[in-house]
Amino acid sequence: MTREFHFRWQWDLRSPPEALWPLVADTDRFNAEAGVPEVHRAPRSEPGRQRLTMKVTGMTLEWDEAPYEWQAPRRFAVERVYRSGPMARMRVQADLEPRGTGTRLVYQLWMAPSGLLGRIVIPLRMNLLTKPAFGAVFRKYDEIAMAGKREEAAGERAALEPGAEERLAQIGKALRDASLDAELVENLLGFVRGSDRLSAMRLRPYALADRWGTSRRKVLDLCLHATRAGLLVFRWDMLCPSCRGAKGISETLAGVKRQVHCESCNIDFEVDFERSVELTFRPNPAVRKVDIVEFCVGGPRMTPHIVAQQVLAPGESRAVDLALAPGAYRVRSRSDRGGQHVRVDAAGAPSAAFAARPEGWPSAETVLAPKAAVTFENRFPEPRILLLERTAWADDAVTAAEVTGTQTFRDLFAREALRPGEEIEVGSLCVLFTDLLESTRMYREVGDAKAFGLVMRHFDVLKRHIADHDGALVKTIGDAVLAVFRRPVSAVRALLGASRELSRPAGDARPMVLKAGVHFGPCIAVTLNDRLDYFGSTVNIASRLVGLCSGGDLVMSSEVRRDAEVEGYLKEAAFGVEDVKAALKGFDEVRFDLFRVVTPWVVEKGGESAGPKTKRF
Ligand SMILES: [Zn+2]
Repeated sequence: MTREFHFRWQWDLRSPPEALWPLVADTDRFNAEAGVPEVHRAPRSEPGRQRLTMKVTGMTLEWDEAPYEWQAPRRFAVERVYRSGPMARMRVQADLEPRGTGTRLVYQLWMAPSGLLGRIVIPLRMNLLTKPAFGAVFRKYDEIAMAGKREEAAGERAALEPGAEERLAQIGKALRDASLDAELVENLLGFVRGSDRLSAMRLRPYALADRWGTSRRKVLDLCLHATRAGLLVFRWDMLCPSCRGAKGISETLAGVKRQVHCESCNIDFEVDFERSVELTFRPNPAVRKVDIVEFCVGGPRMTPHIVAQQVLAPGESRAVDLALAPGAYRVRSRSDRGGQHVRVDAAGAPSAAFAARPEGWPSAETVLAPKAAVTFENRFPEPRILLLERTAWADDAVTAAEVTGTQTFRDLFAREALRPGEEIEVGSLCVLFTDLLESTRMYREVGDAKAFGLVMRHFDVLKRHIADHDGALVKTIGDAVLAVFRRPVSAVRALLGASRELSRPAGDARPMVLKAGVHFGPCIAVTLNDRLDYFGSTVNIASRLVGLCSGGDLVMSSEVRRDAEVEGYLKEAAFGVEDVKAALKGFDEVRFDLFRVVTPWVVEKGGESAGPKTKRF
C-alpha cells in the first residue's frame, strides 16, 4: 500500500458562500477555466459510475467516477478510482465556510499514487501548477460574485471561420434592416465573436436577456431572426424530467420524439412541449465552429435544481446543513419511484429526517426552515443516492410550447412541424377564433375581387394585432382566423384592438365587423397540411363561441373571464360584460359559464348592415 498524499489549500474570499456557489460548483466551467484538459465519456461504464478518460501531457488517464455528493452552498465532493495513469485513487472535497461576511474556501485532495511515477509527479504538479491555477480562478469568481453578475468568462476562444467577419457585417446589417434593436444586434454579434466555448455551445435566449438586462421576448425574436439570417442554428433539447439533462437532441421539430430514454436515470419518459422540450441556439458553423466539449460530467451545477445529493451505504444515515430558498422541494432516491414533498418556509422546522425504504415515502408534506439540518437515511439493503431537489422547472428555458406559439417563429420557420401523426401536449394555451360578420353580403355588394381585397386587408390587421400581443396566427379558414396566445389577456387585447380598427376604419373605407370566441385550456400540437396546428376540446369550444356573437363583441369562457389580468383590463377599458345564456353544440352534457364583452361598436342582433349600427354608452 503506497502512501496517500493529502493537499489542503485555503483561500479567504470576500463573497458569501451563497454568491460563490453557482460559480465554484460549476465544475465543468471551473475545470475549463483552470486549464484542466477536457474529459471524454468512455462507452463502458459500471452501473452508477461514469467511466471517463483525459489526456494529460501525452498520458491517457482513465477512471471510474462516483456520483458527486453536495450540499448547496457549503460542500461538494467526488471520488475517482483510476484504471490507468500515475494515480490509483483521488478524492476531492471543497468546503465553503462562512467567515464574517465572506467565505473561507477549503479545497482538499487525497491522492493515492499508482507507482513511482505518481509519487514523484503528483506533489510537483499539484503544488506548482494546480494550486496557483485554482487559486486564480477562485479569486476571479470572488470578483464576479462581488460585482453581482456573471460575466462571460474569458476561456479559450475558438477562431472564426474564413470570411466570417464579412458575413457577420452583412448579417448585422440585415438584422438592423429588419428593424431589430441595433444595440441588441451588436450584443449578439459580440457574443458570437467573443463568448467562450462553453457559453457558445448552448445559447439560452432568456438567460442571455436576463444577463443583458433586457426583454426576454426581444432576445428570443432576435435569436430566431439571427437563425434565419445564418448567424445561429437552433436545436430542440428533450429534457429528462428526473435529471433534467438533454437526453434527446433534434435539429428539427419533426425529429422530436414522444418517448425518450434517459440512460443516466434508466427511465423512459414522455416528452411534453411545456416542460421537457427546450429550444437552444449556437453559432452557425459557417461563422464559428463550436465543438461540444466537456470538462466535468457530474458536478452539482449540471443539475442545479438538486440542492443536496448524498451517496449512502445500506443502513447509513448522514446529516447535512442546508441553506434553502423558500419554495417547493422533494426528497427522493435516484433509483426508486416516488418521493416526499417538502416545503421551505420561514415558519418551518429547523431539522428533519428523511428515510428511503422499500415501503416507499410518507405522503405528508414536511415544512423546513430556510436554514435546516437535514438527515438522509438509507434503509435499503443496497446503496442509494438520496437527493433533495426543487420541483419547479427553470423559468429561463425557451420551451417548445412557448416558441411555437409566437408569430416570429411561425413566420420564419413555417416548415418546422411535428412528424406526421405525432401529437404532443403543449400545456394550456389561449385560443382565439374570429369570423367576419355577413361576409357573403359583402361579396355580393362590392363584387368578388374587391371583397377578396377587403378580406385580405382584414387578415393583415388581425395578424398585426395578434403579433403585437405576443400571439401567433395559426391559420385562416375561409374568412375565419385561429390564433393562439400564452396569456388570456393578450388574446382579449389583440381581438378588441383589431375589432375596433376594422369597425371604425379611417376615411371612407368599408367597416368590417368581427365575431370572436376566446377560451383557455390544454391543447395538443399536431401537424396539419405541413404546418404546426393545434387541436383538442379547447380549440373546438373557442370555435363554437364565435357563433354566439352578434358582431363587434367577443364571447369568452369563464376560464378567460376569471383571469386576473383579463378582469383588470376589462375594468380599465370600461367595456361592459354580460352573461351569455346558451348551450354549446356538441357539448350538451357540460355546463359552460359564458360571457360577452360588449364594445361601443357592437352590432345589435338583427342589425342591418349598410355599415354596422353601433350602440353607444
Ligand atoms: Zn435522466
